[in-house]
Amino acid sequence: MNISPELFNQDSDTSDYATFSHGLYIGGTWRPSSDGRVIEVVEAVIAAVPDATLADAAAAVDAAAEAAASWRETPPRRRSEILRRCFELISERAETLAALISLENGKALRDARGEVAYAAEFFRWNAEEAVRISGEFGLAPSGANRIVVDYQPIGICVLITPWNFPAAMATRKIAPALAAGCTVILKPAGETPLTAYALAALYEEAGVPPGVVNVITTSKPGPVTAAMLADARVRKLSFTGSTGVGRVLLAEAAKHVVSCSMELGGNAPFIVFDDADLAAALDGAMIAKMRNAGGACTAANRLYVQAGIHDAFAEGLRKRMAALNMGSGTDPETECGPMITRKAVDKIDRLVQDAVARGAKVLCGGAISEGRGYFYPPTVLRDVPADAAMAHEEIFGPVAPISRFEEEADVIAKANDSEYGLAAYIYTRDLAKGMRVASKIESGMIALNRGLVSDPAAPFGGVKQSGLGREGGQKHGIAEFMEAKYIAVTI
Ligand code: NAP
Repeated sequence: MNISPELFNQDSDTSDYATFSHGLYIGGTWRPSSDGRVIEVVEAVIAAVPDATLADAAAAVDAAAEAAASWRETPPRRRSEILRRCFELISERAETLAALISLENGKALRDARGEVAYAAEFFRWNAEEAVRISGEFGLAPSGANRIVVDYQPIGICVLITPWNFPAAMATRKIAPALAAGCTVILKPAGETPLTAYALAALYEEAGVPPGVVNVITTSKPGPVTAAMLADARVRKLSFTGSTGVGRVLLAEAAKHVVSCSMELGGNAPFIVFDDADLAAALDGAMIAKMRNAGGACTAANRLYVQAGIHDAFAEGLRKRMAALNMGSGTDPETECGPMITRKAVDKIDRLVQDAVARGAKVLCGGAISEGRGYFYPPTVLRDVPADAAMAHEEIFGPVAPISRFEEEADVIAKANDSEYGLAAYIYTRDLAKGMRVASKIESGMIALNRGLVSDPAAPFGGVKQSGLGREGGQKHGIAEFMEAKYIAVTI
């Protein structure tokens, strides 16, 4: 097995990735798993990566522990420069990375390019923040002593990421963890491990010392993660993925009192009031619904449109969705790529058929695209009732369910009728109304007259069953990887 990462040599083209096999990246070396087993990537096999054992996971924790002291003592300026170099290298190799993401994930190349730019930004932003970590100093109310608060790296971090943004969900964790002075072990999703390994090669080139970032892939995520969390040197679990797996991991982390950050599922409402700019609302809906062909935690999952603008909006969305180019992700003309697995296609179809059986009307799409690949056509439904399963479950596909509403209070109640609370979208020309509704919606993030909410400079995260903690933003993202140490000083 070739385990020397030469992914970025000048002559490589997309087809090279298919035959390229990586090793586990532990302590700055590329190696096979201890028992030599591999995981095949994607149901039509494009590559095989080592299948880490418990021994490999222990080796990764050892490597992270060995590197911890010197990384923690590395001056913030130096850490910042290395992170900045990661940003530059990811940006320079953006086309190669985008092609790789598109190949292993299936997303349209234009979405993959957007993801690479977004992923790189986490390094730029955290390079800038790494030198601005500060503490607190004050006089105790009694006057007896000074209160000094120092922020220190939390320790070794286990990072677990999903398949839908194989680059950005990893850099959103790695960059702040490294800025804070922590060392990490990343376990990417089984469907999309290649991007994580490609990025690890870039970190190494940027000067990240061996052991500071380790990457392992495994077909046994439960036992491998449990073993790492049981190691007393591991102090942080940062997870992005489904709420169901998040709950399992919270229970596992609780056994060892490990600090947790949880970026979980969503069910975003997209609200259009009568006074909205129709064209802007349609543009926003296309972005909020169709980024990654609907496979985003922030995807508009329920579109609530006020009665006066409802028919024009529904017709406008139908036209735009029906005109989208569906095809292979690596084709530059593709606007809607395939779903990740057959299971994902079947789930989307189950939700659509359930909604139709309960009275929803299909304006376009609405049935599985037969033939090679896992395609579901861009679909618009109207008159979707509140008891449809898709009003409560993540669709994670290119399906826009529209429901009509009359009153502001009514739509706020509908928007909040979900166990999730990640993102929400509001379109209105009345800023006061927009702010009032935003303040009443139970979600961690609101996009007001915008179809995109994610920004490395803003705190990303959810309330209710959408998670715990924030990633990105001024101080928030790095704070998740630090502990406050209070020192009482008598002078
Ligand atoms: P998932 O099934 O929860 O998997 C996420 C990660 O957890 C994968 O690496 C997976 O590994 C791993 N995993 C699964 N079971 C595990 C266990 N018992 N112990 C340890 N790790 C385990 O989610 P997904 O299908 O990949 O991603 C889609 C979900 O992620 C959606 O719900 C979406 O909303 C959410 N998401 C949230 C955000 C956010 O920021 N809030 C961002 C993106 C996605 P394997 O792949 O090997 O199973």
